[in-house]
Amino acid sequence: MSHSKRTIQLPSMTPGTARQIAVHRFGKAGARPKAYLQAAIHANELPGAMALHHLMPMLVEADRRGLIKGEIVVVPTVNPIGLAQLAGNNHLGRYEFLGRENFNRNWFDLSGEVAERVGSRLGANVQDNIALIRAAALQALGAMKPQNELQTLRVEVMKLSIDADIVLDLHCDLDAVLHLFMSRRDWPGAAGSLAADIGAEATLYNDPYPQALTFSGVNGALWARLADRFPNAAIPQACLSATVELRSQHDVNHPLGESDARNLYRHLVRRGIISGRAGKLPPLKAEPTPIAGMDVGYSPAAGILVYLVPKGAWVHKGTPVCEVIDPADARGPKARRQVLARTDGILFSGKQPGALAWPGAVVFRIAGAKVLAHRKGMSGLDD
Ligand SMILES: [Zn+2]
Repeated sequence: MSHSKRTIQLPSMTPGTARQIAVHRFGKAGARPKAYLQAAIHANELPGAMALHHLMPMLVEADRRGLIKGEIVVVPTVNPIGLAQLAGNNHLGRYEFLGRENFNRNWFDLSGEVAERVGSRLGANVQDNIALIRAAALQALGAMKPQNELQTLRVEVMKLSIDADIVLDLHCDLDAVLHLFMSRRDWPGAAGSLAADIGAEATLYNDPYPQALTFSGVNGALWARLADRFPNAAIPQACLSATVELRSQHDVNHPLGESDARNLYRHLVRRGIISGRAGKLPPLKAEPTPIAGMDVGYSPAAGILVYLVPKGAWVHKGTPVCEVIDPADARGPKARRQVLARTDGILFSGKQPGALAWPGAVVFRIAGAKVLAHRKGMSGLDD
C-alpha cells in the first residue's frame, strides 16, 4: 500500500491561529507519469473538493489492488486561508484579505530561474531536458524564502505540482456548465482526451499559452516559455495543465461528485497512471475555441439580473442573453436593459439569476469560434 497523508503547516499569521493543508499521495514518489490534482484554490468553490472526495476512495482501492503505476498527488482543499473567510454568514474565499489578491493570480513563473540554472545545458535530448528542467524548477522553489502564509502556500503547493505530467486545478463558476481553460500548445493531443473524458461543454484555449500567472497557467507555461527562449533545444510541452470549471457553486451532490470522480479516474487510466482499460474515448461535446473568441457580457447599469437563455445554450450574435432591471423604474419593460450576445457560440457561464448587477459587472461568457475585435489581446480574466 502506497497511500500516505501528510500536512503542510503554514506559518501563523495571527497569535493563536495556524493553518495546514492535507496532501494525499498514491503510488511511489518519483514514479511516472505523475498527476497532481487540487481543488478550491478559490475556497468557496467546492464541486472539485466533492469530486476528489469521491475519487480518493477509488484511488485507495486501486492502490490496494496494486494498480497505481505512476504517482498521484491529491490536495482536496488547497486553500485553508480562503476556507476561513466567513463573514456575515457568507463564505467569501476568492480574494485574500491581507493583500487583496485573487488567490488564483501571482503564482510563480519559474522560467527565468530555470533558464539561469540550466539554460546552457539544454540540448537535443528530450528526456535529459525534461529531467534538468524539473530538477531546476524544484531547486528554484527550494531556494525561495516565503515571508508569510500565502507565499508559503504558493511555494509548498508548487513543489507538489511543478514536476507533474498532468496538473488539474478544479474550480467552478457562479452559474455554469462544465468547461475547461487550457493552452493551445496542449491541443489536440492530451487536452483533447481530457475534454472528452470529463465531458467539457466548452473548452477555451489561451493562444499560445496563458500569460496570466494562474496556478494552471504557470505549471504548463513553464515549458512553453522555455521552448520559446531556447528554440534550438528539444523542449516538449511536458505538462498538460488545465483549469477545470466543474459547473456552478451549488452543483455539489453525490451523483455529480461520483460521475466527475469516475471521469477523472478514467482519464488517469487513459494516461497510464493507473493500470486498467479506459475504454473508448467519449465523443467531444464541443470543439475548443480561442480565448480571443470568448465574448464577455458586461452589465450596462445597476439592477436585478435575469437571464433569458439557460447556461449551456447555443446563442447567436444579437440574441438577448440577460436583462438588468431598474427596480425603481415604473415603466415595466422599459425598465429593462438587455445585454446581447456579440458572437455565435455556447453560453457557458454567468452569474446566478436574481443576482444584483452593477455597471461593468461580468454577466456572461460565450465560447465562440471567431476571434472578436473587441476581445483581441485581452486576457480571459476580468479579475
Ligand atoms: Zn475559481
